[in-house]
Amino acid sequence: METLYHFINGRRVEGRSGRYGEVVNPADGQLIARVPLASAAETASAVEAAAAAFPAWRDTPPMRRARVLFRFIQLLNDNMDELARLISAEHGKVLNDAVGDVTRGMEIVEFACGAPHLLKGHFSENVGTDVDSHSIRQPLGVCVGITPFNFPAMVPMWMFPLAIVCGNTFVLKPSEKVPSTALRLAELMHEAGLPSGVLNVVNGDKEVVDTLLEHPVVEAISFVGSTPVAESIYHAATGRNKRAQALGGAKNHMLVMPDADLDNAANALMGAAYGAAGERCMAISVAVAVGDETADALIERLVPKVKNLQVGPGTEADKEMGPLITAEHRDRVKGYVDCGVEEGAQLLVDGRGLKIEGCEDGFFLGGSLFDRVTPEMRIYREEIFGPVLCVVRVADFASALEMINAHEFGNGTSIFTRDGDAARAFSSQVQAGMVGINVPIPVPMSYHSFGGWKRSLFGDVHMHGPEGIRFYTRLKTITSRWQAGLRKTVDFNMPTL
Ligand code: NAD
Repeated sequence: METLYHFINGRRVEGRSGRYGEVVNPADGQLIARVPLASAAETASAVEAAAAAFPAWRDTPPMRRARVLFRFIQLLNDNMDELARLISAEHGKVLNDAVGDVTRGMEIVEFACGAPHLLKGHFSENVGTDVDSHSIRQPLGVCVGITPFNFPAMVPMWMFPLAIVCGNTFVLKPSEKVPSTALRLAELMHEAGLPSGVLNVVNGDKEVVDTLLEHPVVEAISFVGSTPVAESIYHAATGRNKRAQALGGAKNHMLVMPDADLDNAANALMGAAYGAAGERCMAISVAVAVGDETADALIERLVPKVKNLQVGPGTEADKEMGPLITAEHRDRVKGYVDCGVEEGAQLLVDGRGLKIEGCEDGFFLGGSLFDRVTPEMRIYREEIFGPVLCVVRVADFASALEMINAHEFGNGTSIFTRDGDAARAFSSQVQAGMVGINVPIPVPMSYHSFGGWKRSLFGDVHMHGPEGIRFYTRLKTITSRWQAGLRKTVDFNMPTL
């Protein structure tokens, strides 16, 4: 069994804390590797390496910083197959989906390659007589990323490529459940020519996070994970005057109007609810059907598809859905299905008790489908993060909108309809950060920004796109006067034109 490492100051560093986490293949329950959980001192050494690398990296022209990323893109493409296999082995998602995980991350790198343009400032001539003014955006210093298990490649790449191309240095703490992808990405960045210390990966748990939050040199924290952790990290970071963006959990609704193309809506729901076993923060977990006729017709289409889901190891070509991340999480999701039955929802397809020959020790669960779910039920209120879709029946558009807006989460949402007015009213009035119109998973492209509302995001600034550039830089405005404008007298008044 392999023992993993940290990646600090351009090289692999053995863990010395004596504490390890287990990395398990969720498809067969077998131990793949043990991952060192860093101590406070090991974590601090990564921050120090990043701080030492900062002055030279900050002064490296943005075009040269971007060239490292151009080479990194090439290496991502060259190593796509290996990365997808690594992701599938530790996370369980099917291989094509794992390729998507890397590809969506790579798109952020492609966006980041435009940094010389994106970092251009503004210049105003003659803001006063013979006085000019210009604004520039400068890097912050050492930035930190803390990432969840569900996108081992994409979510780290929401963060470090932009932070780094803006001139910051970075310490990444990936999920201890899926540490290998982040380590590999850091190695590829170095193969692409990144100087030592600019990107460091420290493996570990809460102890690492607490050390990063407390370290005075750390300027900014980007976090993606569950809501309770997001909330506490946001407050801990901002309480120490660090910049923070903390993305949390979700409960994404798809509103299906009576005029929608229901075959299309049912197909869209299948991918959005059960793809990646529902372990996506943009997964649709609630289908809101307007009118009983819509609900009945939708369910008629969904039931055979859910029963027919091809569940198995992500490495098998014909599989649509892999296992859940851990046995505990599988049991938790199963517990939600039990709870839904107890609460009186109608369980139309029961994914509990699925057995897959040859994978008896894997953390599999079949797809579950509930009808007649109501807003007071726990299966409606809480994030399940598994292959469970709840259908809620409502009378009309207005009550659907009211219900969606009353939910504590507001990450993504979508409407399926042929009615432009309904779509426009929905996108204008819905309380969520990302909205799809006949698009089930409206994850913004890299040149737009990603983020939710309400308790799906703590902080003001979304990830990547223009907001990402803003997050990883701070504004400076310079006002200058040269010889021609020099004054001969003292002026004690506030300068005005
Ligand atoms: P998690 O909150 O358990 O862990 C996320 C990260 O925080 C990991 O690196 C983990 O080691 C660390 N962590 C965990 N507990 C901690 C604690 N008490 N103190 C400090 N650090 C801690 O989340 P997860 O289970 O890895 O990921 C699933 C969650 O992430 C879901 O809730 C999902 O909705 C959310 N998510 C959100 C988005 C988004 O964009 N909003 C994207 C992906 C995942």
